[in-house]
Amino acid sequence: MSEQSAPAAPRTVHTHCPYCALQCGTRLTRARDGVSVEPSAFAVNQGGLCQKGWTAPEVLDVRDRLRRPLVRGADGELAPSDWDTALDLVAGRLRELRDEHGPDAVGVFGGGGLTNEKAYLLGKFARVALGTSRIDYNGRFCMSSAAAAGNAAFGIDRGLPFPVTDLGRADVVLLAGANPAETMPPLMRHLDRAELIVVDPRRTPTAGRAALHLRPAPGTDLALALGLLHLTVVEGHLDHAYLRDRTTGFDPAWQRAVAWTPERTERVTGVPVADQRAAVRLLAGARRAYVLTGRGAEQHSKGADTVSAFINLALALGLPGRNGSGYGCLTGQGNGQGGRELGQKADQLPGYRSITDRRARAEVAAVWGVPARSLPGPGPSAYELLDSLGTADGPRALLVFGSNPVVSAPRAGHVAERLAALDLLVVADFVPSETARMADVVLPVAQWAEEEGTLTNLEGRVLRRRPLMDPPAGVRTDLEVLRGLAVRLGQPADRFPDRPREVFEELRRATRGSRADYSGISYARLDGGEALHWPCPDRGGIGTPHPGTPRLFLDRFAHPDGRARFLAVDHRDAAELPCAEYPLTATTGRVLAHYQSGAQTRRVPSLTKAEPEAYVEIHPDTARRAGLADGALAEVTSRRGSVVARVRLVKGLRADTVFLPFHFAGRGRANLLTGGALDPRSGMPEFKVSAVRIGPA
Ligand code: SF4
Repeated sequence: MSEQSAPAAPRTVHTHCPYCALQCGTRLTRARDGVSVEPSAFAVNQGGLCQKGWTAPEVLDVRDRLRRPLVRGADGELAPSDWDTALDLVAGRLRELRDEHGPDAVGVFGGGGLTNEKAYLLGKFARVALGTSRIDYNGRFCMSSAAAAGNAAFGIDRGLPFPVTDLGRADVVLLAGANPAETMPPLMRHLDRAELIVVDPRRTPTAGRAALHLRPAPGTDLALALGLLHLTVVEGHLDHAYLRDRTTGFDPAWQRAVAWTPERTERVTGVPVADQRAAVRLLAGARRAYVLTGRGAEQHSKGADTVSAFINLALALGLPGRNGSGYGCLTGQGNGQGGRELGQKADQLPGYRSITDRRARAEVAAVWGVPARSLPGPGPSAYELLDSLGTADGPRALLVFGSNPVVSAPRAGHVAERLAALDLLVVADFVPSETARMADVVLPVAQWAEEEGTLTNLEGRVLRRRPLMDPPAGVRTDLEVLRGLAVRLGQPADRFPDRPREVFEELRRATRGSRADYSGISYARLDGGEALHWPCPDRGGIGTPHPGTPRLFLDRFAHPDGRARFLAVDHRDAAELPCAEYPLTATTGRVLAHYQSGAQTRRVPSLTKAEPEAYVEIHPDTARRAGLADGALAEVTSRRGSVVARVRLVKGLRADTVFLPFHFAGRGRANLLTGGALDPRSGMPEFKVSAVRIGPA
């Protein structure tokens, strides 16, 4: 129980889980004996929660909760301070650095878990109060490949362009690199009826429930998607009427796929011809079918092309934009959708609009009350930003909100070195994360059940987060922090509201007329129980309010000609292939008990009991050759660094592959292995393929 006195009578609020993009609905109750949670009847989770959701109240009262600002002293130690001292110090240093080196000397790193209001105000703070182009966020590591591919194909990117509940009517669902049985278990309720085709090098819990499990070698999903398109065409499953009426660009895409015969696809991916054929026949024979991608397909240096290839397959079968069928991406972070459309991306303004679009700049600048010419241009993507810290051309200071890149960024050892090279690192968080522990100034902020706001879940539905309690004494909200800094940097206070409702009213105006239009959504409508998916334009009080758009593309796609576009893509190797020195491929992912960098879940006793330490899954034959027994400590080494992890023998894994969860810190940080190769279309790093060797620790 927090230090606040318990209420005389129990108090309950309807809110949502603080973790993943499913945003399961919860009833949160505070009584004399503490905070408890129950699932609500929210359509997405239908009374279900996973292990993380059930234990979420424990995060509210973690032992090392930050309650006072911390400032690093002359002795090199972080020491408690007060808010005025901390904010004055930060603003003073930012002004000095900006005056000396220019506005791009300051960078901002945001997060896909920040509420819509925070993501919006953070983007505005960077562009207006700091004047920097150096802002990006950890969603670049999560959703960017699918976003780039979705925009190219459909003219708009919304994780699922249909409600999650539509999946419940599906006959067949192909899941490429997604493991919802472990990462978002309540989603599986909607997949009970469907036959599943799972594309994954591991036999995950989701693959264990599949009618068909395709196990491509890591980094070859794109070749597999091309092979499936090839079979779709040669076996006569192409939907010619759909292609004619609703798409463009099939021929160039087919020119690439024509070479991907089943035999060649088997040679490159390892997926037998019979399994390829079975997958295509299942999909093509279904009345209602979906193709869904997840991080396994997306986190590659060719991630956007891989998603484009799966979208091409879905288009060839005539699925997207058909009621009861489609393509979608299973977003990862809690506000992965809202976080990427409201202005904290390096190249975007609120409403998913390009920062280079003159009209968008003028409209957003008018809402912000600044000249359009004062807004900076696009900046580097997340890894490029981190890689440039402290260099001659890079930022000298970084402000981090809602992210823990020391654990979650690729090439994590190098990223930690870049952070250490800064003149000023400021971290706003509610626990001393690995990144906060490196900071010069740590700002303690409120967390999920202590604040209100909105988030947008994986189906583009805007949800209310409601406060159950006040933050502990000494803690401020991120919005209050941004306002406090903005004012100290010379901004008028009323340009940076710190009440979530006011910020939401402003972001409604800033997204008006955009593809991700929130202007018709209000707290009052959401509190009235309406299910509002963007786009939801404001009708200005004329007629009934817009009902939102649960299903996109039923009549037309969002490109000016209304058609979806095939993209001509081809397979290429991963940036790094196994070799004599590093003969195995390491791939990374999530486990049921933990979330993202683990900064929250590693502090929950029952979750750490379930998954206490870093581990490496390895095939028994591979382990034997490496001299490793089940339960031993192994050292996994790539060209970037080494990880020490507990061996788990897993027969369902490819013998050429090892798997490490990425939630752990210290020597167990899986991202000590990953590299900095980036997807040229999206800026996504290659998290899923690293050449490694393994041996006893
Ligand atoms: Fe929370 Fe996601 Fe688990 Fe639902 S599935 S309870 S949103 S972590």
